[in-house]
Amino acid sequence: MNKLRAFTLLVVMTVSSLCQAKWYTDSQGIMGTNIHTEVWADNDDVGKQAVNAVMDEMQRINQLMSPYIESSELSQINRQAAKQPVKISAEMFELLSLSLGLSAETDGAFDITFASVGYLYDYRQGTKPDQQTIDGLKDAINYRHIRLDPVQQTVHFAHPKVKIDLGGIAKGHAVDNALAILRTMGIQHALVTAGGDTGLIGDRRGRPWKVGVRDPRDKEKQAVILPLTNVAMSTSGDYERYFEADGQRYHHILSPFSGQSSYEVQSVTIVGPRSTLNDGLSTAVFVLGVQKGIDLINRTRGYDAIIVDNQRKLHYSNAFSAVD
Ligand code: ADP
Ligand code: MG
Repeated sequence: MNKLRAFTLLVVMTVSSLCQAKWYTDSQGIMGTNIHTEVWADNDDVGKQAVNAVMDEMQRINQLMSPYIESSELSQINRQAAKQPVKISAEMFELLSLSLGLSAETDGAFDITFASVGYLYDYRQGTKPDQQTIDGLKDAINYRHIRLDPVQQTVHFAHPKVKIDLGGIAKGHAVDNALAILRTMGIQHALVTAGGDTGLIGDRRGRPWKVGVRDPRDKEKQAVILPLTNVAMSTSGDYERYFEADGQRYHHILSPFSGQSSYEVQSVTIVGPRSTLNDGLSTAVFVLGVQKGIDLINRTRGYDAIIVDNQRKLHYSNAFSAVD
């Protein structure tokens, strides 16, 4: 083979392998929300495998943590843990420990036992518990009722009426897991979104990802668009699941102190390295409100917040106000 031909062949081969590299995307309804992923991969095999791996992981976590699936580990815990200690998976143990840690750090604003009352709300049917029922169950909302035994790997509820729900943290956990799987596959540019929780690997090939915080009262409009690289972002809003009755908006983020929807803000966005924590913190700050919420985030290294309050005014934590 003469030199010129060898060179031409090399150029052709390089160009054709470059041509195969592209974005692979998929969207599916899983965990009661829209899951969306975009992955940059060198070829079809890797690209398709990668987006499938993301969706498989979402399905796996749904089967484990959904309160609507009777066989889920979460449902089993809710059926048994008030009666006796229940042996749980390492993954569940870790997420419950993390949830308890968040409760302590947020003075109880994040509390997975909110479900002791929360399970009586049905946002699709538009039904809610009456005040008497809430008052009767309010004592069951307290993360201190959850007893974890690290030696036996068990969970026990020290109150007969406790129920837990991981809706405030499971999607963030699923995003972190999905990103970890993509990284082991060698993926260097990716986005994974589960409802309000987004995680990013790298940039969008030479430019940052643009992730929007939507206007809480108009889903066609963005309140803020953030250019982000290799980080994660979660938004909690009062518009995800709600119904209106007697002039009130009954929505899915409950104050553990009242057993009722929290009304100080319309949305909270947290940007930070770990999606699981962003998810938990966005729910917590939603309950804490502007002042206590911003104070908490300013104390939490590596994490930042944007709050849309109930007058539609924006508030930023320190690092974002410095940019403003
Ligand atoms: P989404 O992305 O669905 O908007 P959020 O992160 O805003 O999720 O969390 C809302 C979900 O968190 C609720 O649907 C419920 O399952 C759960 N939740 C509600 N209130 C609390 C609370 N005070 N502490 C922990 N979890 C909560
Ligand atoms: Mg959350």
